[in-house]
Amino acid sequence: MKRSNKLFVLTLIVLIFVLSTTVSSLDKKTGFIPNAYIQGDVKQVINLKELQEVTIREIEYKNQKLKVYPLKVLLDKAEPIDEKYEIVFSAQDGLRAKISSDKIAESYINFSHEYGWEVINLNHPISSNIKLIESITVVAKGEHNKSMFSIITPDKNLLTKTPGQLFTGLYLIKAVFEGESTQNIGGVYYSASIYSEKKVLQPEEMINKKIDSRTILFNEQGETLRYKGGCLELNKNFVNYINPDQKESLKNIRGIVLDAPLKSNKDAFYDTLHYLENDTRVLIVLLDGFGYHQFKYLKENGQIPYLSKIESVSQAITSYKPVTNTGLAAVLTGKGPSENGIYNRDYKNLKVPDIFKKASELGLKSAYIEGNIKILNTSIEPILNPDLNENGTTDDEVFEETKKQLSGKADLIFAHLHGIDDNGHDFGPFGDKTIEVIKKTDNYLKQLAQNWDGKIIITSDHGMHSTKEGGDHGSVLYQDMFVPYLITEGGNSNE
Ligand SMILES: [Zn+2]
Ligand SMILES: [Zn+2]
Repeated sequence: MKRSNKLFVLTLIVLIFVLSTTVSSLDKKTGFIPNAYIQGDVKQVINLKELQEVTIREIEYKNQKLKVYPLKVLLDKAEPIDEKYEIVFSAQDGLRAKISSDKIAESYINFSHEYGWEVINLNHPISSNIKLIESITVVAKGEHNKSMFSIITPDKNLLTKTPGQLFTGLYLIKAVFEGESTQNIGGVYYSASIYSEKKVLQPEEMINKKIDSRTILFNEQGETLRYKGGCLELNKNFVNYINPDQKESLKNIRGIVLDAPLKSNKDAFYDTLHYLENDTRVLIVLLDGFGYHQFKYLKENGQIPYLSKIESVSQAITSYKPVTNTGLAAVLTGKGPSENGIYNRDYKNLKVPDIFKKASELGLKSAYIEGNIKILNTSIEPILNPDLNENGTTDDEVFEETKKQLSGKADLIFAHLHGIDDNGHDFGPFGDKTIEVIKKTDNYLKQLAQNWDGKIIITSDHGMHSTKEGGDHGSVLYQDMFVPYLITEGGNSNE
């Protein structure tokens, strides 16, 4: 290409760019402009009314020149949680149209005072061109464990849906009482009750099952609430819980757990404290990423002889979010995230005393044996164990160090083995290699027990569910939320 040609092309590109990015406000001018939200499975909820600085395109539609927003640009701004999704346009009168995200190159949003927010799909059937749009809902395809809402029991995931998927199902419109105000004019009282319309779902109808009082709710902040027959409110890109009295609510619900077990891995803190106060030494072994479902399966298949012989076994619930920092903090402090301050992997500082602090208050010594990285800022420094022999795991180093500590002066020993979690991520909770590591861990535990004369508590921070790539955790799924909780004695009696 000649230099002058290049310059011409460049000028043309710049010109097109300038023409197409005029920051204008479509046909809004003056007058009432209704709200219309891009919602559902998006990170950012967008109100079309408040849009600023979005590329405007000029199109020909029904012999008119219209200045419109390209739909793709708007959706990118909202950051859908998945690359592939469906888009549901909902009109104020309830009419809906659904199109796929991979065919929206010629889809535009227009505003006029006659038709309000309107979608113009030049390539789609004319019936998809919805007027008076109230919302544009992004609906993720497939499973999205990271941003979904679920209802589970200790051994079943009854429902797992993203907010977008819930929006496209059946919900009710409910008037929720917001408050009452009264004013006095010339001795006469005028009062008004204020209600707001909410889109609600009844959990019992969602799963077609009666829900009893042993049901708890978890929200994104790890707060829990007992379910008392309330409803769920769809709120743009998350779900809230509203109690029947409409007074108590929990924002951004992640899941509902039916028949929740009474046992929690937080009990490790209280059980340990109890034994220490009664002059009994305690060894706690935290098996990272070892779900109750894995324990149960391997026990039934005779693969973990040591763990299988322990009589005191419970299925315990861990805290949301079921990740290492949160689960470890729960075990070490006996408190949930809203009290101990560890909500997820981004948090390290404990707001309440840990078990090591409690032991030291009793005048007792502790040893905390970790893998190669420090996870939380605990009251005593962990003994870190890098993979010295470079065999791909720190478990052998943690095991050796723990064995060494057993004959030392510590009254409380806390050992954290990471191998099950590492292999669970790579090969899935039931991958051959994961099972190999669990069997090896069972043998480590047997050897530790033989060299210990106190109590032994074995539990986990969270479980692990299968994914296409291997395994993962961090969701309200029974595989992630339930862990084994075992108490036994050391010594050769378990031989
Ligand atoms: Zn973990
Ligand atoms: Zn993990």
